[in-house]
Amino acid sequence: MAFDPRKAADPTATSLLTIDLAALRANYATLRGHAKDSECAAVIKADAYGTGAEQAVRALLREGCKTYFAATFAEAEIIRAAAREATIYVLDGFFAGSGPAFAEKAIRPVLSSLPEIEDWAAFCRERGQPLPAAIQLDTGMNRLGLPRSEIEQLAAAPELLASFAPALLMSHLACADEPGHPLNETQLKSFEGYRAMLPAGPASFANSAGIFLGTRYHFDLVRPGFALYGGKAAEGRKPLRQVVRLEARIVQVHDASAGTSVGYGAAHVLSRPTRIATLSIGYADGIFRVLGARDGKPGFAAYIDGHAAPALGRVSMDLITLDVTDVPDGLAHRGAWIEILGAHVSIDELAAQAGTIGYEMLTSLSRRAQRIYTGSEAE
Ligand SMILES: *Cc1c(COP(=O)(O)O)cnc(C)c1O
Repeated sequence: MAFDPRKAADPTATSLLTIDLAALRANYATLRGHAKDSECAAVIKADAYGTGAEQAVRALLREGCKTYFAATFAEAEIIRAAAREATIYVLDGFFAGSGPAFAEKAIRPVLSSLPEIEDWAAFCRERGQPLPAAIQLDTGMNRLGLPRSEIEQLAAAPELLASFAPALLMSHLACADEPGHPLNETQLKSFEGYRAMLPAGPASFANSAGIFLGTRYHFDLVRPGFALYGGKAAEGRKPLRQVVRLEARIVQVHDASAGTSVGYGAAHVLSRPTRIATLSIGYADGIFRVLGARDGKPGFAAYIDGHAAPALGRVSMDLITLDVTDVPDGLAHRGAWIEILGAHVSIDELAAQAGTIGYEMLTSLSRRAQRIYTGSEAE
């Protein structure tokens, strides 16, 4: 509580991304509670949704998480380095010739087509070891997974299923964030039907939002990602604890006259004498250009000690200009830290202003901000 990341910031730091690992752990515990009797895994793809895979995995291990999902093999290797005993799956693609790499690191592929299954089975036969892998079925998203025709072929090929160890049967929901969407129920029915065609084994279906669709969606293992990192899982549901906070420093404050313009394209003409604070953060840090003031509409607001300061003009690559005219005297000064994401603005709110979703905002966040991890020592 007493820890102030601003005090821990390097004097040269221009922006600060604080990642609260205690909040991440608390979110995991909350989701595990909702998962009831099912195991709760963690999805760590895209560098743990931008929060740092290594740190996230270490925190989740301490919370008792045993199964992890990465998008790519390179991501899985990072998880393996932090979690020697964990079960790790790669979601997005198993390519011919990559069997030895998976086997060497004891990383499991998620096999999402018959050709992938055939390659893994052949590799296992060659090696004389039926190694574990997940099988992903397409239940209505038309993205990844075996379609019905391939599931039928697989069901009729027991020797294929016997050449490796099918450890998890999974599928992914397209509309879990819309609890009333009819596709949820349709996908559930398909999943149950397909499961009955294949040898019995553990199954996994729910992402963050899927967990809140009820226990029928849970099966043996749930796979939350976004909600772990503080995102709002579904419409009308309160987000769990906020994990990221983003701040930037004022480089300069100056007074500008009415009638002059601000920033590239002279896109914003001042209608009154204005005090402007220039922040060292921009679209290269994930503060999308659409968040700037456009067509006479104000831009997003940053917060200075709880006081809103709207963005003026366009967002540049590395700089943003704020209107601090109405901020109490003395708060907006050179070197002051300004909150972009945090107590006043959530990742989902800022994303909505940018016309996108929290997932994109989170995974786009600055790689050049100084990163400070808090709560890693918390039990
Ligand atoms: C990304 C992903 C998840 C996690 O989804 P969230 O909405 O972030 O909880 C789960 N399963 C699969 C297959 C995914 O690609």
